[in-house]
Amino acid sequence: MKTRLKVALAGNPNSGKTTIFNGLTGSRQHVGNYPGVTVERKEGTLRHRDTEMIVVDLPGTYSLTAYSAEELVARDFIINEKPDVVVAIIDASNLERNLYLSVQLMELRAPLLLCFNMSDMAAARGLRFDLEKLSRFFRAPIVQTTGHKGEGLKELLDAITALAGRTASDTAPHVHYGAEIEKELAALVPLISAECRAADKYDPRWLALKLLENDREVRSLVASPGIDSHVAKSSARLEAIMGEHPETAIAGSRYGFISGACLESVVSTIESRRTSSDRIDSVVTNRVLGIPLFLALMYLMFHLTFTVGDPLMGFIESGFSWLGETIGGFWPRGSDSLLKSLLIDGVIGGAGGVAVFLPNILLLFLAISILEDSGYMARAAFIMDRLMHKIGLHGKSFIPMLIGFGCTVPAIMATRTLENRRDRLTTMMVAPLMSCGARLPIYALIIPAFFPGNWHAPLLWIIYVTGILLAILSAKLLRSTILKGDSVPFVMELPPYRMPTLKGVIIHMWERGGLYLKKAGTIILGVSVLLWALTAFPRQTEDDASRFETEREEIRSLDIHGGADAQALLEAIDFRESEAGLRQSYAGRIGATVEPLIRPMGFDWRIGTALIGAFAAKEVFVAQLGIVFSVGEADGESDSLREKLRENYSPLVALCIILFCLVSAPCMATIAVTKRESNSWAWALFQLAGLTLLAWILTTAVYQAGSLLNLGT
Ligand code: GDP
Ligand code: MG
Repeated sequence: MKTRLKVALAGNPNSGKTTIFNGLTGSRQHVGNYPGVTVERKEGTLRHRDTEMIVVDLPGTYSLTAYSAEELVARDFIINEKPDVVVAIIDASNLERNLYLSVQLMELRAPLLLCFNMSDMAAARGLRFDLEKLSRFFRAPIVQTTGHKGEGLKELLDAITALAGRTASDTAPHVHYGAEIEKELAALVPLISAECRAADKYDPRWLALKLLENDREVRSLVASPGIDSHVAKSSARLEAIMGEHPETAIAGSRYGFISGACLESVVSTIESRRTSSDRIDSVVTNRVLGIPLFLALMYLMFHLTFTVGDPLMGFIESGFSWLGETIGGFWPRGSDSLLKSLLIDGVIGGAGGVAVFLPNILLLFLAISILEDSGYMARAAFIMDRLMHKIGLHGKSFIPMLIGFGCTVPAIMATRTLENRRDRLTTMMVAPLMSCGARLPIYALIIPAFFPGNWHAPLLWIIYVTGILLAILSAKLLRSTILKGDSVPFVMELPPYRMPTLKGVIIHMWERGGLYLKKAGTIILGVSVLLWALTAFPRQTEDDASRFETEREEIRSLDIHGGADAQALLEAIDFRESEAGLRQSYAGRIGATVEPLIRPMGFDWRIGTALIGAFAAKEVFVAQLGIVFSVGEADGESDSLREKLRENYSPLVALCIILFCLVSAPCMATIAVTKRESNSWAWALFQLAGLTLLAWILTTAVYQAGSLLNLGT
């Protein structure tokens, strides 16, 4: 027997690998990088009885595909450096998921030892293992440990020494992949053994399997056009028969192997708890009921934001209008003081108009937090997984997308969990279509202005569902054109259901909601003041003022009795004067410049400036409408913003505004984070241009069709 054993620790992230590694090696370790990649390499030495060991802590992985640097490093280490023993560190409280890696190690024919760590947690969950049976299934010894207490480490070392002394058997078990795949394997294996030099170093069955899994590393390793074309034919045939990628089917079989093994050898003594969670899942993730239930929960969420949110919103609204009147009271009536206009039109009308929607936002975030903390969101992703597979993405993409209901920026950062770059880019590109919290104020302003109360929640629901559908369709489009390629099979982990704690939910709600308030106080306030200045300047010229005054004089001189007709004429002049003032303001000129572009969607220059401002942050759209309509006010009675919108636009235009805001380019922050995460301006600009164009086309189509049908005119 060798005197110096090479031992590799493999395992999922958070299975306790590093804990065990430290427990085994103590202080005799050093850290470096694997050659050529910035993946951490930790090595340490130890002596057990008469044996020297060098222990390597492999990077934590769930699988051994070629999709990530970590997985490749772990796999190559085992293949090239041939450790004497590979210890699979397993979180025994989460056995099935952790065993996925073990199955792959087993298939690599690594000298495998299973270390059931987190035994304390497993016991606490009421799990009991038939170790003898499991050990037979995997044909590997099993040791139980509790890493952070150092329990079982001696036994582990003994088992390592014992395993290293044994000669490898050729009868390592393998997963049975079902008749169809096994048939293809049986044809491929001899071909590989005969034709491929790599077969000296690698197990031919493993190579064949990897080729069917479409592993690019193995493909370039085998580098044989003959084998390639054989594999392509096999894959096509398998896909036709099974209706899914061989890759997916292979992953499925591995899980089948694990489920089978566990069903026979793992007993849960806490039967009731398990079944209650299972019972919920059998309904929630049900093939037929799953999606309707998801949609219903979303509906409930929006219903809540409106029914509970509206009274609260009215409360804040009257607070702000009281504030506006009080501040306005410092100036004489009809004063055209700039400061007054800045405070009332710019700050209260703009940023204040956005802050009004805080209750709705908080309620939406409250609902999202409850769904997330309870474990439901993971189920939502699981349900969507099936749908997403059909479009070449997997459910793991849906998690970032769900985060997008809150804010697109963290959603795009969450795409980091996707290993495949194409999946990641696709998800990034479509994530803004998941309607974010900042867009809610737009909907919450416009929907009640134009539509009756019983339509509010359904409309909001339709908007969000439209966003999801557009995201899915765009993803499908991207995946079948510029981001064409294979998708990664993935196993959705279903965390146990938990009763959300009040504290947790409040904290999560506040983390998001506080951000919103902060934004209203900073970016939105700043942009509001800027937009106000653009709307208020340049001020009306003396000439214009006197021209309107002359008109007024004429009317007054003609009508010495002060009749109603004259009154109406005078009001019309007031209106034209303010309208003319707005039009020649900077904002008006900018709006007029973009007007030809937005005219086909039914938008006027006012909406145009609001849309431009909304690029700073979506809420600014609401702020800018508030500013335009309050600066443009022909003095005196302030109708609410909603009333003014109703006077100026049709319900069709209102719908078009909503649609455009939902689909069009997200805010600056999103573009910036897309640039950072994709590491490319091209993708960031593609997102910006693509979404804007999509929004323009859809909105124009809706407006033109609606106008033709004479809707809302
Ligand atoms: P790694 O990602 O696989 O390297 O995992 P770590 O070694 O960093 O461990 C993750 C966490 O699990 C740490 O907080 C450890 O203290 C804890 N941990 C490790 N082993 C055990 C165990 O046997 N039982 C329990 N309850 N916790 C453990
Ligand atoms: Mg670690």
